[in-house]
Amino acid sequence: MDMAPITHRILLACDLDDTVVGDTEGERRFTQAVKRARDAGVLVLAYVTGRYLASGQRLVAEHDLPEPDWWGCDSGATVYRVADGGTLDLTGELSHGPWDAGIVRSRLAGHPALVPQDFDNLRRVSYIVTNVEPRAVVREVKGALAGMEVDVALVKDNCLDVLPAGLDKGVAVAFIAEHEGIPAGDVLVAGDSENDVPMLTGGFGRSVLVGNAEAYVKEALHDKGVIVATTSHGTAVAGALESFISERI
Ligand SMILES: [Mg+2]
Repeated sequence: MDMAPITHRILLACDLDDTVVGDTEGERRFTQAVKRARDAGVLVLAYVTGRYLASGQRLVAEHDLPEPDWWGCDSGATVYRVADGGTLDLTGELSHGPWDAGIVRSRLAGHPALVPQDFDNLRRVSYIVTNVEPRAVVREVKGALAGMEVDVALVKDNCLDVLPAGLDKGVAVAFIAEHEGIPAGDVLVAGDSENDVPMLTGGFGRSVLVGNAEAYVKEALHDKGVIVATTSHGTAVAGALESFISERI
């Protein structure tokens, strides 16, 4: 039987920690689903993570996950295209509002619940949150940074990122889709936590929260057209990928 010609490709943009990564069986199913979609020539894969690039690459190697075609790192503040065995940094093509990391750091200096993280990234200021009520800390941080054009988001329950306004995971996914010539309707996004919200509500073709997502994120998104998977981690992403492709191609 002749194969039908491939009419288009889809972009899977997914978070890593607690989305793809989290249980071994899910990672295996995810890897298989990606391989099948790649063998069919229909998939562009982007990992969109709160990690910086080297940390994301280390995680992928440690868990033997497929190499992506794109990276969105630092919660969307940086983007890289994977090509010829290396990565091409396209971060400079992302535009954002006024930004002074030094002012952010000085306004938050001495906060008792914030431990500064020393990432070598000029567009992101990160902290470990040591308070049992991380969302209360987010409110305090937003208060301390009032008047600045910044976005504040929790990554998991104990990491806090401050980024320039205009940079987030949703912007990174839109940038990648545009570079690939893939319409927003053919983009599938998957995530689990607060810094995934901008891509989950970014107007893409389908948005999936893995079943193990943070409860407050599920609560915040239940009426926003986001699908909450009945399965968890990579199993949920694999299932979403296979149904998304079968409906389109
Ligand atoms: Mg995550």
